[in-house]
Formats: sequence, structure tokens, C-alpha cells
Amino acid sequence: MNNQNIHPTIAALEKRMIEFRRHLHQHPELGFEEVETARYIIDQIKAVDLEIRHPVAKTGIVAHMHNGEGPCIALRADMDALPIQETAEVPYKSVNDGVMHACGHDGHVAILLGTLLALDRHRDAWQGTIKFIFQPAEEGEGGAEKMIAEGVLKNPDVAAIFGLHIWNYQPVGIIGVQSGPVLASADSFEISVRGTGGHGAVPQDTVDAVYVASQLVVSLQSIVSRNLDPLESGVVTIGQITGGDNFNIIADEVHLKGTTRAYREQDRELIKDRLQTICDGVATTYGATIDLHYRDSYPSTVNDPDMTEVVTRAAKRVAGDGVGKPFLSMGGEDMSFFLREVPGCFFFLGSAKPEHEHAVVSHHNSRFDFNERALAAGASVFMEIVHEMLPAKS
Ligand SMILES: [Zn+2]
Ligand SMILES: [Zn+2]
Repeated sequence: MNNQNIHPTIAALEKRMIEFRRHLHQHPELGFEEVETARYIIDQIKAVDLEIRHPVAKTGIVAHMHNGEGPCIALRADMDALPIQETAEVPYKSVNDGVMHACGHDGHVAILLGTLLALDRHRDAWQGTIKFIFQPAEEGEGGAEKMIAEGVLKNPDVAAIFGLHIWNYQPVGIIGVQSGPVLASADSFEISVRGTGGHGAVPQDTVDAVYVASQLVVSLQSIVSRNLDPLESGVVTIGQITGGDNFNIIADEVHLKGTTRAYREQDRELIKDRLQTICDGVATTYGATIDLHYRDSYPSTVNDPDMTEVVTRAAKRVAGDGVGKPFLSMGGEDMSFFLREVPGCFFFLGSAKPEHEHAVVSHHNSRFDFNERALAAGASVFMEIVHEMLPAKS
């Protein structure tokens, strides 16, 4: 494990950050329901000289720390938990039935709180305005988009934004930073196949919706294998099929649900276009009616090259040679909406517990837990980013 260079003020706050994290972990709330979470956050920062906007996007908080003339930058943490029953036996186990911080957003909030308290103690070391964004509903409902619509990036205008994700796929001491796309677009779709049902022994009088849906499942996999540039990344997944009534009845209706992923916007468009073309073609071929409902959800998360340089320099001061390319996935993340509006960088903070380093406990798993040593590392990187972006008073 790499030695980390933890900022002394952060080191002094580490115990409190762990306390914050454990309290939040024990009291998780779902997206747009983070009422107690927001109350808790405000309690921790109410003694600090801040301009607080709340509620923003139902349950979100934007805390402005003004400190003289200078640009405005934003640091963002998401606050929501997941509808999962926690099975990890930890002293800070969730007390809210069926709700769990299984993605590490409790850690993100704790890191941002620690950073805020530390930057308040170091007002001599930077100049400008910092917006601390506590965002609701990252997991699927797009809290970021709603916050932007309510003006969080305005008044004053945000010049750059930074965020991080606790990352159990790598150990503490490793920080993943990369320019360009780092997480995928994550759209969803529903397909209805309508045929003509009938007797299982008389197929000639029917249009078999199960058969047509099967053709569709197979054909849709040709998008990634035959249409997408093999050097680029994309996924088409059908996650659910429902239809049919019994073994001897030909189904007249089948429903499919799925998701698509891509790093590049042009590949996202290509996948979407081909989905429609294949649905139309299969419908014509087999005489069925096929309706596709495609829902644009999160775009891909794309880091600005200059801001990636800033984070790389900042992270190296904390983790030295531990800074490298992140372990990438086709997961989605609504930080992408912020990064479409202003330049910024989203980076990955290694957080695997030593006993999990060779057997990853994945995010969104009911046994998810992370190494709390990551908290001080994350806050130290945020501190260094601020020092890079907002130099000391001259
Ligand atoms: Zn998640
Ligand atoms: Zn997450």
C-alpha cells in the first residue's frame, strides 16, 4: 500500500470525517428523499461563514464559501443511497430497512464536509469562491440535471467543477485520473412486440410474439459486434423479457427492457438508430408490430484535458506514484451533466479494504463497505485542487 501525503488539517479532521460517514451510512435515504441527510449536513457546517442555498432540486444543498476576489469553482458530492437491504455486519449498519449506502455516497459527503471545514480554516491559502454542491438522486433520477436547471452553476458562474468516486476496484493509495470519457452514457429502452396469439399446435394462424422477440434479442447483439468500431466501447443489454401465458398458447404480446452504454456520443446515437432500424426490420419480416420507447438518460462522463492535468498534479502530491489510469467501467454517473456545462474532472479514489483487494466487493452489493482511509486521501486531493485553481491571497 502506498504511503499517502495527507494534508495536516485533513489529518486533524479525519476522525470527524469517519464519524460523518458512519452516521450517514447508518441513516441512508433514497434519491430526492435525503431530508435527514441534508439536515445533518447543514448541522455540521452551520457554524461556518457560508451562503447556503437549500433546498435546491428538492433536497440538495449548495454552500458558497466566499473568500475575496477570484474565480468560482465547484466541488460536488452525491448524497443518495440505494434500495438494498444491507447484509454487511458492521457496527454502523443501516437502520433504515431496505435502504443502504452501497455505492459510497456516504463517503463522498464525508469527504466534502471535511474539505469544507479544512478550507474554512485555511482561508489565507486561497482566494475566490468555492461552491460545495451536495447533490440528491444520483442513482438513476438525475439530481445533477435538476440542480443545473435550478441554477447551481450560475451566480456566480462556475469556472470548473470537480468530483470523485470512491472506488472499491482498487486499493487505498491508488487514484485514477484520465482525460476524456471515463464512464459511459446509460440509456434505457422498452420494446413491445405484438403479434397474434393462438393455439400452440396451430402456428400457421398466428404471429408468435415469443419467436419474434427472440429474433430481436439475437439481432440487437449485432449492433455492438457488427456496427460499432471494434476499437470503441458499447453495450446493449436486454435485462428483462415478459410474455406468454402457458406452454401450449402462442403469445400475442411480449415486452422487453434493456439498457445501452457508450463512451462516445456518436456511438450512443449509432446504437439508438440501429435499435430502431432493427425493430422496424424484424417487425416487417415477421408481420408483428414492434414499438420501441428509448429514454435518453445519463450522457457519458467526459473529463476536460486541462482540468485532468490539474487533478493529476493535485493527486500526485497526495498519492505520488499511486496516481494512474482508473479501472474503467461502462457504468453511468450523472456528474456527466455538470461536465457538459463546465470543464472539470471526475476521478476515482481507490477504497478497497485490505481483505477485499483480491475479492472485490462490488458497488451496489449488499455487503458493500469501503476502507475509511480513503476519506482523508479524497479530501486532501480536493484541498490540493483548490490550491491549484485558486492561488493564495497576494
Ligand atoms: Zn451507484
Ligand atoms: Zn455512485
